[in-house]
Amino acid sequence: MTLASLEGRIKKCQKCRLWKTALNAVPGEGSVVAKVLLVGQNPGAEEDKTGRPFVGRSGKFLNKVLVENGIDRRNLFVTNIVKHATPSNRKPFPDEIAACLPYLECQIYSMKPEIVVLMGAVAWQTPRMEGVEYVETVHPSAAMRFAKMRKRFEEDFAQLRNLL
Ligand code: URA
Repeated sequence: MTLASLEGRIKKCQKCRLWKTALNAVPGEGSVVAKVLLVGQNPGAEEDKTGRPFVGRSGKFLNKVLVENGIDRRNLFVTNIVKHATPSNRKPFPDEIAACLPYLECQIYSMKPEIVVLMGAVAWQTPRMEGVEYVETVHPSAAMRFAKMRKRFEEDFAQLRNLL
């Protein structure tokens, strides 16, 4: 399946309950030949409104860390393990993650990035595909709030810069 047809499927997805309360599905965006794919948890309110990943507060923080490390976001692909916003931005339920995971797996399989950065414990649940390196870091919203997590997040992105 091409990434474009996958995006179409994600936009029409009704595989779990989340489409009923969300405004827009957020398939992800960026370079389809990206070496690095970033994976978050689920779209928040701003992402739900715009249909774009990481455009709210945590996205701004992520952008800042990328810029500080000389990483151009346009050269990456940014997405989430769950493609629809959750009510009141609650953690996605296991059945919602399970329903949505094939989309992410298909994105990874089609793009074959060198590195997949899993941001936060929900994203860490992504099944590993052979031939791809996975980096587990904290979620940017946690990194924004807690100094220790910010340090880890910044260090992980500094490392990523060396790999690019
Ligand atoms: N948090 C996420 O995990 N993903 C987004 O797209 C925005 C906020």
